[in-house]
Amino acid sequence: MKKIFLTPGPSQLYPTVATHMKNALKNAITSISHRGKPFEEIINNLVLRLKTFFSIPPDYHIFIVASGTEAMERTIQNCVEKTSFHFVNGSFSKRFYQTSQELGKNALKREATFGEGFDFEKVIIPKKTELICFTHNETSSGVMLPIEIIQKISKHYPKSLIAVDIVSSAPYINFDFKLLDIVFFSVQKGFGLPAGLGIMIVSPKAIKKSALLSKKNIMIGSYHSFLSLLPFEAKSQTPETPPVLELYLLEKVLADMQKIGIKNIREETEKKAKLIYDFLDNNQELSAFVKNPKDRSQTIIVVQVGKNQQALKKYLEEKGYIVGSGYGEHKATQIRIANFPTHSLDTMKKLVRYLEKFTQSTRGE
Ligand SMILES: *Cc1c(COP(=O)(O)O)cnc(C)c1O
Repeated sequence: MKKIFLTPGPSQLYPTVATHMKNALKNAITSISHRGKPFEEIINNLVLRLKTFFSIPPDYHIFIVASGTEAMERTIQNCVEKTSFHFVNGSFSKRFYQTSQELGKNALKREATFGEGFDFEKVIIPKKTELICFTHNETSSGVMLPIEIIQKISKHYPKSLIAVDIVSSAPYINFDFKLLDIVFFSVQKGFGLPAGLGIMIVSPKAIKKSALLSKKNIMIGSYHSFLSLLPFEAKSQTPETPPVLELYLLEKVLADMQKIGIKNIREETEKKAKLIYDFLDNNQELSAFVKNPKDRSQTIIVVQVGKNQQALKKYLEEKGYIVGSGYGEHKATQIRIANFPTHSLDTMKKLVRYLEKFTQSTRGE
């Protein structure tokens, strides 16, 4: 039976990936030199595609890294001398916070209960804060932050740099990049690609900060720093041998998504999320873990299952549907359902029918 991965990441490959992969192999993409013209063309196409796809200002930089987790470290190293501020409401935002601590910075945080958003009105960010970090979509708890608030905070603290992790909300998310300084994602979630590539979108202001830190002899990174990535970006290359196949595939998938229309993809994402949340809100056995509708993620739906979690996962697997387990202490009682562009409306309708059937069969136990 064909399996469909509704896991948060890696997830189901985007439907066109297999064809693009075959073409890449046919054209020996994986053997070309990363110091030659054909490779530079791949990078140039990708950068151009990313800039049009996300409406990225022309003076912003695009850096190629290995993962979302690497992007967190690069962000802290290049943008913080002393103090960063983090909105922490789950495992990924905590990772970002801990990265800053581990790098010896003064990492401040505002914490919210797992499964909830923040009471932003009450948050005071100290003036000395150099970088404010958001995890737009907390993949562990299924909470998505409102973009308007992130943009409002950015306007309110014009001296601080703003970093946003969009690993599990891209390409659904739509930002005014001019208000943000570092935005990053990896490709194995919403873009439906194999893991191994991270993209960082970086403002000129963040580059300046990195240069300032370097001038003060503060360590901004050896393998990758904004300053070491810049000259390679300028010649459409990378310092190391990069995952060429991934770069090639990302450009192709972005182009496919543009053909469908990013607006259409966003609307369909909301339609599919509504289908599942509506079902959960009307079901006796299963419920949405995130109670407040305004906190609910459109791309990662966390379901409170309880003692039948193992049985539900097994039942879905028999139907060919692989869902994720809960995170941390919720591992055995919740499931997480990814709602990415690769997951069709039809797939989600079937999933809801299976969930319905499962709860009917366990009712009255
Ligand atoms: C998966 C994830 C990461 C980590 O990304 P990697 O590419 O696995 O390093 C970071 N942030 C969020 C929100 C994620 O969902």
